[in-house]
Amino acid sequence: MTTETTVTFEVRPTPHPRTIEERQNALAELSFGKVFTDHMARVAWTPERGWYGHRVEAYGPLSLDPATAVLHYAQEIFEGMKAYRHADGSVWTFRPRANAARFAASARRLALPVLSEEEFIASIQSLVATDVEWVPDSPGSSLYLRPFMFAAEAFLGVRPAQHVEYLVIASPSGPYFTSGFNPVSIWVTTEFHRAGPGGTGAAKCGGNYAASLLPQQLAAEHGCSQVCFLDARTESLLEELGGMNVFFIHDDGSVHTPELSGTILEGVTRSSVLQLLADAGRQIHERPLPFSEVQAQIESGKIVEAFACGTAAVVTPIGQFKGVDLDLTVGDGRAGQTTRDLHTQLTDLQYGHAKDTYGWLYQLA
Ligand SMILES: *Cc1c(COP(=O)(O)O)cnc(C)c1O
Repeated sequence: MTTETTVTFEVRPTPHPRTIEERQNALAELSFGKVFTDHMARVAWTPERGWYGHRVEAYGPLSLDPATAVLHYAQEIFEGMKAYRHADGSVWTFRPRANAARFAASARRLALPVLSEEEFIASIQSLVATDVEWVPDSPGSSLYLRPFMFAAEAFLGVRPAQHVEYLVIASPSGPYFTSGFNPVSIWVTTEFHRAGPGGTGAAKCGGNYAASLLPQQLAAEHGCSQVCFLDARTESLLEELGGMNVFFIHDDGSVHTPELSGTILEGVTRSSVLQLLADAGRQIHERPLPFSEVQAQIESGKIVEAFACGTAAVVTPIGQFKGVDLDLTVGDGRAGQTTRDLHTQLTDLQYGHAKDTYGWLYQLA
C-alpha cells in the first residue's frame, strides 16, 4: 500500500543528469554498489532546529572538514534496503517500517538523533520517485537503497555530535554474490568476535563492519567468502556472519537459528524467513546454538541444510564451514530444498510474482 506522508522533500533536480544512453549502459552491466543514481536524499539536524532542510539533490561528493567527528569516532549508522521493479512497471520496497524502527534503535545506541518513521520512508520514496528510471528490471536486479546518518560536526571532543547529517543514496545492483545461487564457504573464526555483551552488535553501525574486515580478509585467504562469529562471552555460541543471519534445517524439518541475544543484528530477512517457515508448519527453535553441537549435527547428518540471509544476498546456501582444524560439508554441499524454496518465496513476493498476503510490500512509485 502507498501511504501519503506529510513530510515533504523538496526536489532540486540535478542540472547534469546522465544521458539516457549513459544510464542504459550503466543498467546493462550491474554489479553491487558501484554505480549510483543521479540524486540523493538529505536532511540535517542540530539540537536547536531538529531535522531540517529535507531535500533531494544532485548526487555528489560531500565536502567535510577534516575534524568531522565521524572520521575520528565512527558515530555512524546505516540501513540496507531494495526497491524492486514489478512487471507492470511499478516499484516497491519490502517492510520499510521494520528498517525505520531498526534505524531508530541504532540511532539511540550510537547517541544519534532519531529520525521518524515518516521521514525515513518519505526520504526513500522521494529519492526513488525522482530516480525511478534507475530501477532496473532484469531478473534478480534491484535498486539498492542505503540510508545512513553520521556525526557531521567538526569537533574533536568526545561527545555526541551537535550536527548530524542523514542521507539516502541508491545503487542499481545485480545479485550480491557474483557466483549466483551457489553454496558459499564460511570461515568460523575463534580469533575474533563481532560484538560483545553491552556493545553495538544489535545496532547497524559502520564500526561493526570495520571490525569484521580483518577476519573477513583472513577468511578469504582460506578460500571462504564470509566469516561466522562466535559469542564473545563463552566463545562457544554461534552468532552470525559479518552481515547476515544464519539458519540450520534438521532432518526432521525443524528450523534452528541463534536467538536474539543482544549481540546479534535482528535482520528483516531473518524475521521474514521465520514467519514463512512458521506458517509452513515448521517447528522453530530460536535458541543459543553451541557451535560444537552444530558441528556434531552436521557430521551426523542431523543438520541437512544451512543458509545465511540478509537483504543484499536474500537467502544464500552454506555448503561448508571451515576453521582451524575444521572442514565440514553440510549435507552433500549443495543448496537444499528448504533453502531454495525460501529464496523463491521471498523473491516471488518482492518482485510481485506472488500475492503479498503479509502486507510486506510498500509501493514507492
Ligand atoms: C544488515 C545485517 C543483517 C541482515 O539484516 P537484513 O535486515 O535482513 O538485511 C544481518 N547481520 C548484520 C550484522 C547486519 O548488519
